[in-house]
Amino acid sequence: MNTDILTWSVGGITITSVPESSTPTSPKFMFKGFDRTAVLELAEKATWLQPHFVDENGYLLQKIHCCIIDTGDYRIAVDTCVGNDKQRGNPLWHESQGPFLEDLVDAGYAPDTITHVVCTHLHVDHVGWNTRLVDGEWIPTFPNAQYVFVKEEFDHWSVTEDLFGDPVFEDSVAPITDAGLADLVSQDFELCPGVSFQSTPGHTPGHVSVVIQDQGKRAIITGDMTHSPIQIANPELSSSFDTDPDLARQSRYDAFLDWADGETLVIGTHFGSPTAGILKRDGDSYSLEVNE
Ligand SMILES: [Zn+2]
Repeated sequence: MNTDILTWSVGGITITSVPESSTPTSPKFMFKGFDRTAVLELAEKATWLQPHFVDENGYLLQKIHCCIIDTGDYRIAVDTCVGNDKQRGNPLWHESQGPFLEDLVDAGYAPDTITHVVCTHLHVDHVGWNTRLVDGEWIPTFPNAQYVFVKEEFDHWSVTEDLFGDPVFEDSVAPITDAGLADLVSQDFELCPGVSFQSTPGHTPGHVSVVIQDQGKRAIITGDMTHSPIQIANPELSSSFDTDPDLARQSRYDAFLDWADGETLVIGTHFGSPTAGILKRDGDSYSLEVNE
């Protein structure tokens, strides 16, 4: 059993995080011109960043995981990581052979019990387990699920080359459409009572965050509108992988203003464990109050 499986409750809804990988990451990989010294200087002011999100050498403690939202009637898998067997330029991801599916089953979510798959956007580390390789063919990993893609995002990546030139759309998105399992929706789509999308564009054109609400409680799954908690401490920092860095920055300011009500649980799509916290206003910026 994977010991890093986390769960959170939002009213009567449960969210379970099943990780695929955790890696200390050089900040320069994601934030041009922002090195480990700059991260450590930021962490001196925003002391909440350590020890969970920034290590003593200024590396970012990042994770790739999938969240299962379980409402009782619906089992929604949000962001399906990198996947196995994919041909990728990044050696860490190339022909990966990880135990993610076994961990998902152990967590109580066998693939055939998933009712919906949501991708906050269509980057390589958010669509991988949409499909798996069987007899040389990419087939849907979740055969009974409706896969929900934002139409603007789908349209963009159907004609745009992947960031690293990998065949991401071809092996992880197109087979879903071919199988008749894709549902193209708007950026403010309501998937079911208590689960809806919030438009947070900039990282990609049709990027959404996922809002979970029940019994007066609220949680957010960020997607990559915030890659690292250092962007909560300094919302100015846009990632090198953002399609439109200025729009991504504006999305962060708009969303944080909305979410920093002192009660909303913000679950980061790449934040290292414990991965979630209550977003709070902190002078001109924000902080994440982590429940130990
Ligand atoms: Zn990502």
